[in-house]
Amino acid sequence: MMLCLQTAAELAQKIEEYKQAGLTIGFVPTMGYLHDGHLALVSQSRQNCDVTVVSIFINPAQFGPNEDFAQYPRDLARDKVLLERAGADILFAPDTAEIYPPDNSVRQLRADARLSAVACGLTRPGHFDGVVTVVARLFDLARPDKAFFGRKDYQQLRIIQKMAEQEKYPVQISGCPVVREPDGLALSSRNKYLSAGQRKNALALSRSLTEAARLLRGGQAIAAARLCMQNILENTPEVKIDYLEFLRRPDLSRLTDYEPGNTVILGAVYVGATRLIDNIEV
Ligand code: AMP
Repeated sequence: MMLCLQTAAELAQKIEEYKQAGLTIGFVPTMGYLHDGHLALVSQSRQNCDVTVVSIFINPAQFGPNEDFAQYPRDLARDKVLLERAGADILFAPDTAEIYPPDNSVRQLRADARLSAVACGLTRPGHFDGVVTVVARLFDLARPDKAFFGRKDYQQLRIIQKMAEQEKYPVQISGCPVVREPDGLALSSRNKYLSAGQRKNALALSRSLTEAARLLRGGQAIAAARLCMQNILENTPEVKIDYLEFLRRPDLSRLTDYEPGNTVILGAVYVGATRLIDNIEV
């Protein structure tokens, strides 16, 4: 039976029991409205740890004032069924006051300045500060041995790895592969916002990334790969580019020349009002 907990105190106590019993704890933080990308993280955790804790918390601190915090899709009843079926041991679904108590006792962290100087760090100011703050708070409560994040949010993964290192959390951070629809669209809770037409147009993002990767592997320059992506995206109705970045792995510095095996292309686009991100490692 999966245990559903809503308070920080209940979670901390349950975790203490597991620790006393010598069990290892796997942790999967999410914002809910779960899909197979999330469930792949749960499966990784179950394979690698004795106990799997999943959190569902839509973190207000990581949304900008004009972003979709209020509309972000929610379906806790459905999420519970999916997690139970996936074999999670604990679902932690707290209210905002449990994560950010009114006494302001929660440590406000800043994301690494270099890793957040590109991509989403530029177009969503403050976003990654909100992310590292909530992840540190959740790590303090769940005290995981291993935590599982998707490579879909590649920049976020790197920033969390850096935070865990700097804050000396005794946790191993795993980056799991991007889970996609059969046609290539990366799974995202935000795909729910797309109309049938937009869903088709959204495919341009993964297609442009695949094309750019193919060009780089074939010996073309980054400038040519970027141009190809721009062509695909700018010729797709309703699509507007937020950014395209060609970065070195793992430090996320901007590349002028392709470095085989060391490169990640990050893309963010608006499809209508919906902002989608994706990436490919080349
Ligand atoms: P979210 O609920 O969007 O905050 O995502 C929670 C976790 O699931 C993060 O570590 C994401 O990177 C991961 N995730 C979301 N979508 C995917 C996907 N399509 N493939 C793999 N991981 C994903």
